[in-house]
Amino acid sequence: MPKIIVAIDGYSSCGKSTTAKLVAKQLNYPYIDTGAMYRAVTLYFIQNHVSLTNPRETEIALNNIHISFRRHAELGRNDTYLNGANVEDEIRKMYISEKVSDVSAIAAVRHALVAQQQRMGRTKGIVMDGRDIGTVVFPQAELKIFMTADPLIRAQRRQHELMEKGELIGIEEIAENLKMRDFIDTTRAESPLRQAADAVYVDNSMMTLDEQVELVVRLADEQIGLLLRKKAGRA
Ligand code: C5P
Repeated sequence: MPKIIVAIDGYSSCGKSTTAKLVAKQLNYPYIDTGAMYRAVTLYFIQNHVSLTNPRETEIALNNIHISFRRHAELGRNDTYLNGANVEDEIRKMYISEKVSDVSAIAAVRHALVAQQQRMGRTKGIVMDGRDIGTVVFPQAELKIFMTADPLIRAQRRQHELMEKGELIGIEEIAENLKMRDFIDTTRAESPLRQAADAVYVDNSMMTLDEQVELVVRLADEQIGLLLRKKAGRA
């Protein structure tokens, strides 16, 4: 069976990761949460007091950062590791969300992470979500999705997620954080968030999770079918 790359981009907390995870499961592909990688770098920068405006310090820090993903046997989830330590819970906290977009706007950070992401998708058969996957990391991806949802619905979903992890944050603070991240992510000089010309636009405000997953899997199957026909010389 030919393998494809599924690139899912979009605004913060619009359900990209949840959808991407389930799509990957159905396609039997690995799933890479690139937001987790930027969050892990942010955690390292905070813990080690790395200056965001000192290129030399940033470069040294990046050389000391190793990010990997490992399956959590009991919880069945893919956990993020920073230099060998499981940081999955820590990187989801609000203090990381408050800094991550500033860290992600640094060109050297993006270059380092994009190179690692491209290596992960070298042999295709991968689902990756983020902000620049269809535009910068894999501009040749067979399937690109640009996902969005109503800002209030996104804030409510994020609040629910944080609540499940024991962090009680007011809806205004969350909405403000999402607005700030959207602004920085879409206006930064280096690979800003934008819809790739050939991406499928999905507003999931009124969709159930099942519907979103079904849609993306159907689009992926179409692309795989296309490749199969091409291979057989019929397209
Ligand atoms: O996806 P998530 O909300 O966890 O991403 C956290 C932040 O990481 C985003 O707000 C954005 O600043 C940054 N990011 C990025 N490029 C990606 C993925 C995430 O700049 N590919």
